[in-house]
Amino acid sequence: MKVFLIYAHPEQESFNGAMFGKAQETLLQAGHELRISDLYAMKFDPVSGKNNFTTLENPHFFKQQLEELHATSKGAFASHISTEQEKLEWCDLMIWQFPLWWFSVPGILKGWVDRVFAMGRVYGQGRIYETGVFRGKKALLSLTTGGMPDHYLKDGLNGDLGGILRPIQRGILEFTGFSVLDPHVVYGPARQSQEEREGELLRWQERLLTISAETGIEVGHYR
Ligand SMILES: Cc1cc2nc3c(=O)[nH]c(=O)nc-3n(C[C@H](O)[C@H](O)[C@H](O)COP(=O)(O)OP(=O)(O)OC[C@H]3O[C@@H](n4cnc5c(N)ncnc54)[C@H](O)[C@@H]3O)c2cc1C
Repeated sequence: MKVFLIYAHPEQESFNGAMFGKAQETLLQAGHELRISDLYAMKFDPVSGKNNFTTLENPHFFKQQLEELHATSKGAFASHISTEQEKLEWCDLMIWQFPLWWFSVPGILKGWVDRVFAMGRVYGQGRIYETGVFRGKKALLSLTTGGMPDHYLKDGLNGDLGGILRPIQRGILEFTGFSVLDPHVVYGPARQSQEEREGELLRWQERLLTISAETGIEVGHYR
């Protein structure tokens, strides 16, 4: 399987860094092909704007989606944007490794989506959800939290994690056609013992060894 792994954490020695390292090691050993975007190491600029493009159709009034349609037909995406789009198009499975920040992804990853998931190339013109451009591909969120599992229950302090992830899983991934796999969550690694964290890395490794057999979670759950 062709796997595209995206990593969004500023510290390589973090627990997220360990999850990222474990995923690379496990997927390669299992014989999968791997491409990576380590967003902080790449110093990926998350600010979307005119520099997404090499030329603009309308230099007087910037409207991003119209420029995206134009760039799709003219091949006018900046090279660092089209490189990321090619990785999306190449993969069978996309994995995001990130810490939950403010009930969402870190800004660097949100900005990556803002810039890379372009109208025309990645969605639009009738190609959304069931007819999405990435139909047949799978996506998996692998995340850590500061909060503990009971904080993320329906009646817990923060509420149901599925609801928190809905804007990402439904609004970005399913919207562009991906089948979403069950998210992989490590709750509160900083509050765990060393042994518990090592157990979590093993659990991640075991999941990845059979990941190609997994199918998407029930789409209706996220409606
Ligand atoms: C801006 C911001 C917003 C946030 N918003 C939220 C929120 O909305 N909800 C929420 O729940 N939390 C939130 N948090 C907390 C955040 O989600 C957690 O701090 C984060 O998920 C913990 O993961 P980490 O990789 O940073 O852990 P780290 O603190 O880096 O790691 C935890 C421990 O694991 C150890 N470790 C590293 N490698 C290994 C290894 N190989 N084996 C064993 N142990 C290892 C580290 O040394 C460390 O002791 C927020 C944090 C920030 C900064």
